[in-house]
Amino acid sequence: MENFSYSRPATLRDATAQLGKEHGRVAIIAGGTDLLGEMKDELAAPARLVPVRHLREMQGVRTVGAGLRIGAATPLVDVVENRAVQEQAPLLAMAAVKVGTPAIRNMGTIGGNICQRPRCWYYRNNYPCFKHGGSACFSALGENDFHAILEGGPSFIVHPSDTAPALVALGASARIAGPGGRERIVPLDAFFVTPRQDVRRENVLQPDEILVELQVPNAPAGSRATYVKEMVRETWNFALCSVAAMVTLSNGVVSDVRIVMGGVAPVPYRALKAEAAIRGQRLTETTAAAAGAAAVEGARPLAKNGYKVPLTQATVKRALLSLA
Ligand SMILES: Cc1cc2nc3c(=O)[nH]c(=O)nc-3n(C[C@H](O)[C@H](O)[C@H](O)COP(=O)(O)OP(=O)(O)OC[C@H]3O[C@@H](n4cnc5c(N)ncnc54)[C@H](O)[C@@H]3O)c2cc1C
Ligand code: SF4
Repeated sequence: MENFSYSRPATLRDATAQLGKEHGRVAIIAGGTDLLGEMKDELAAPARLVPVRHLREMQGVRTVGAGLRIGAATPLVDVVENRAVQEQAPLLAMAAVKVGTPAIRNMGTIGGNICQRPRCWYYRNNYPCFKHGGSACFSALGENDFHAILEGGPSFIVHPSDTAPALVALGASARIAGPGGRERIVPLDAFFVTPRQDVRRENVLQPDEILVELQVPNAPAGSRATYVKEMVRETWNFALCSVAAMVTLSNGVVSDVRIVMGGVAPVPYRALKAEAAIRGQRLTETTAAAAGAAAVEGARPLAKNGYKVPLTQATVKRALLSLA
């Protein structure tokens, strides 16, 4: 690991002032469960770390109007156990409890969870691929068992976060702070960027910006939700495929639906065709299967990840049937 300095900001304004204009030179550290691993493996070598966990504006869960404000530095365990989250946005609690292990959820924050870097093994082993500024994707023709089946290319990473699909399904937004007190609000479905938009980055944050807070509208009255995560083994792991699903039924018919998938695309993937297939229908074996099939329309699996197509189809179907 390279030497680095550690500079504890007194305020959020102080923190943004320390960040600078170049990605990678200065790094924000929250729980450090991802960043410190990257530094030890020499994937990241920031000259300075700026911790944010202690900043007041970035902590805790509040109810404001018809929604929640969740500080980006709130540990995942506090999101899982928070009564307001459980009642007003239960889908988020269901997804957050699926992250890693109790230790990861104790240290890891919700902001770090959605800003974490990809798990592609070429990236993590420091191959000089697109993500590291190189000119090739080694997974495209190499070991691509866990890579994208949707929206892939030129990089085929999948977005690893469990909370991101739930937050997108809930219609959450990110409050972002920049230098000099500048702020912007970005809907989460515009927060993540595909490799075609920017092959080096996974979100719209500029080097001098901090994700301060997530603004999460209450789930629609009467809605039901579930988060289903498929892994290579039952205990901690990243999703091979995950489905955040939320439906509202009126007289037994789906009147409103959100289906967002993780682990299958470089960004949390909103399955609009699956939503269209199930909207206006009763939740039955037949209609849920049709929605599952629609969810993977346009999938382009690589040589070793074709299994993800039927897996995703079945996971969408199972998620929907569990809400009937
Ligand atoms: C063994 C293990 C298992 C894991 N399993 C899962 C899993 O099952 N599901 C899952 O989703 N994740 C998993 N993770 C990934 C991840 O480490 C955690 O989910 C955690 O939430 C990351 O949060 P953190 O606060 O530790 O982030 P950090 O490591 O502090 O930061 C991660 C990245 O986000 C940036 N960042 C952090 N906070 C902010 C902010 N407020 N604004 C801007 N940038 C920010 C950092 O600069 C860094 O690049 C796992 C990690 C490990 C080591
Ligand atoms: S999928 Fe992305 S991170 Fe992995 S080798 Fe290809 S370019 Fe690199």
